[in-house]
Amino acid sequence: MPSKRLVLTFPENIVTKPITYKLVKDFNLEFNILRAEVTPEMEGKMLLEIKGASEQIEKGIEYLLNEGVSVQEASKDITLDKEQCVHCGLCVSLCITNALSLDEKSYKLNFNKEKCILCGFCQNSCPVNAIKLKM
Ligand code: SF4
Ligand code: SF4
Repeated sequence: MPSKRLVLTFPENIVTKPITYKLVKDFNLEFNILRAEVTPEMEGKMLLEIKGASEQIEKGIEYLLNEGVSVQEASKDITLDKEQCVHCGLCVSLCITNALSLDEKSYKLNFNKEKCILCGFCQNSCPVNAIKLKM
């Protein structure tokens, strides 16, 4: 069955709407929430895998966009080259899930891959190209 991994960003006002339920009920899609985070500002981010007929997947994505949800295809993997990293912290402020953080004592970059939703927001911030996402 065709599937897609998507990064959804929910603005504050629709975080609690049962959008994923509608994907199942109205578009006959199966979904699996791989990761989800809500920021203190209540913006929500979710890494979602949806499965179903290709046409239904596209209609489901259209529905999400019409509801004001930002939709992007997720990368497949991320690597962070610790040898190249100069611990400048530029990527940290872009990481909504806190997968990237600076150690409070050493000021070295920590990367918690478990928290990463493969959104790719951090990639272009790195001056030494230490972050690589694979599509
Ligand atoms: S891709 Fe980068 S910005 Fe996005 S969650 Fe992973 S580490 Fe954070
Ligand atoms: S932006 Fe690049 S060099 Fe700077 S902390 Fe992040 S990974 Fe390291």
